[in-house]
Amino acid sequence: MKPLKEQREELIRVTSRTLFSLLHSVIEANTFFMAHNNGKQNTILSVWNSEEKMVVEGTVLPYSLSYCSLVGSLQAPIIIEDTTQSPLTKEMPITQDLGRTSFLGVPIHLKNGEFYGTICSLDRTHSFTKQDAERLTHVASVIADLIHLEETTYFDDLTGFLRHSALEAFCERELADSPKAVIFMDLDNFKGVNDGYGHSTGDRVLKALANAIRKAADPDWLLCRYGGDEFVVVLPTNEVQQVQLAVDRLVTAFHNEAMVLADQEDPLTLSIGVCLEADSLREYIERADTAMYQIKKGGKAGVSIFRVEDQQAELDIRHALQQGELSLHFQPIVEASTGRVLSYEALLRWNHPQRGTVSPMEAIHAAEEAGLIEQVDLWVLREACLAQRVLQPQNRIHVNITVKSLRDPYFVERAAEVLLETGCPPDKIEIELSETTQKLDALHILPQLQKLIEWGVTFSLDDLGSGSSSGVALLQELPITTLKIDRALIQHAHDKRMNRAMIRGIVEMASELEISVVAEGIETREQQELLVSLGCRQMQGYYFSKPKPLAGIA
Ligand code: C2E
Ligand code: MG
Ligand code: MG
Repeated sequence: MKPLKEQREELIRVTSRTLFSLLHSVIEANTFFMAHNNGKQNTILSVWNSEEKMVVEGTVLPYSLSYCSLVGSLQAPIIIEDTTQSPLTKEMPITQDLGRTSFLGVPIHLKNGEFYGTICSLDRTHSFTKQDAERLTHVASVIADLIHLEETTYFDDLTGFLRHSALEAFCERELADSPKAVIFMDLDNFKGVNDGYGHSTGDRVLKALANAIRKAADPDWLLCRYGGDEFVVVLPTNEVQQVQLAVDRLVTAFHNEAMVLADQEDPLTLSIGVCLEADSLREYIERADTAMYQIKKGGKAGVSIFRVEDQQAELDIRHALQQGELSLHFQPIVEASTGRVLSYEALLRWNHPQRGTVSPMEAIHAAEEAGLIEQVDLWVLREACLAQRVLQPQNRIHVNITVKSLRDPYFVERAAEVLLETGCPPDKIEIELSETTQKLDALHILPQLQKLIEWGVTFSLDDLGSGSSSGVALLQELPITTLKIDRALIQHAHDKRMNRAMIRGIVEMASELEISVVAEGIETREQQELLVSLGCRQMQGYYFSKPKPLAGIA
């Protein structure tokens, strides 16, 4: 990677050489050169020699032993008639090398007053005048203007980081073939700072974040303020461990920067997305952004690494929604003693054009990753509501809705709209709650559920005993009307006492609470009989019916 500093030097080098060649017609000199001073040494960036090659580009001179240093220490133009005679220069090794010459040097001061370096000229045949010094000073200010222009074109004023536009330009050209990783960072709850404390406080926070990033960064990382409170870091590696280390350093530096505003309601945290593989910088950034967005949606503060499979899944599920590849199958929940159908569970089916039937769990996962889960859940609800009208009107439809969607009040409003639009009586919809993909937190979904409860919607606790359900503890907090015992518990009920004990416990609790129990995944007559003996009255499973498309039932 060619660091930004070098890129800038390249431009200054070319421009100053051109200026020198023009300058030659007004200042009589054999040599012009420009040196950059970094506080420790002077580096000759550009040289223009007329006849004799007195100075070579790229030479690095120790700070105290060069003519440039004289200009640096004076911070003013200096003319030396004969370097072998002047007490300032005659002892310098460079004077011994060069021999007798006249010297003129002027400082380059940047707009902010910072000392950037020097412009000098050398000639053996005659000495320089005050007028020469003025002209050279003028050239120095042109160079300073150029550097300033560069700064403002490529760098963000507030943070000093690369601008969004500059990052694209630099990276796509310079890093095209080298390994890299992109880290996309977004400050959580930053809007609260700007709204609540004003923009100057907001700016202070952003500066502090930039400071943290700068402290954590290696010199060869590209640092970019991508926009607002978004920052992008490009690393010259795609080794997972190294990238992980970089992220750790960034997070640690962020924590050490003490950016927390004491009375800020929501804490300032970082959502970070990482991409290790893409075809262009743009794609790297998009992917890292996508990964970052997963963190935002999952409750902010954290790190996520983009995986290509996820992107394919995302494209696929979007396509599935648009192209009608999704459908619902319905499986009856029956009264065990009579076989009478009490209700139906709607189960998602995805008919993928290449892969065939994709499991609903995978479809749901892809939809969650793609940020499309609300759309999929709404689609399922709508189809289920429409099906309810076709199926026997007295039957309830069970619908699986993800916790993620239920956390979103907007989703619940849309769900209520779906009920209205389809004309499905809300008391004919039972929402199955499960922890298969996300923790079922009463705190976050209860306020939304209340709304639906008022409408008459009921709730099941799904997958009890599957291991992924914290289940019964939630009964105290959630208004559940049905407990569904997972197939995992049923499968070994005949040979595991523990399973039977758990089933009995669930049945007993349900009867105490006056709610229903459904035993899921009943495949054989033996299982049916065993579950009846354990007190289960409602069942669902292949023994009664496999899930079928609506046409197969109605
Ligand atoms: P679930 O809600 O516990 O659904 C019951 C699963 O058990 C269904 O699998 C069903 O086909 C299967 N099943 C029913 N009886 C038997 C049986 O006798 N033997 C066996 N081996 N399996 C049986 P499916 O349809 O593959 O769905 C799996 C899970 O995916 C569901 O578990 C549910 O958590 C989720 N899911 C399905 N459809 C949707 C949906 O529309 N939305 C959401 N959010 N999740 C869904
Ligand atoms: Mg279910
Ligand atoms: Mg279940």
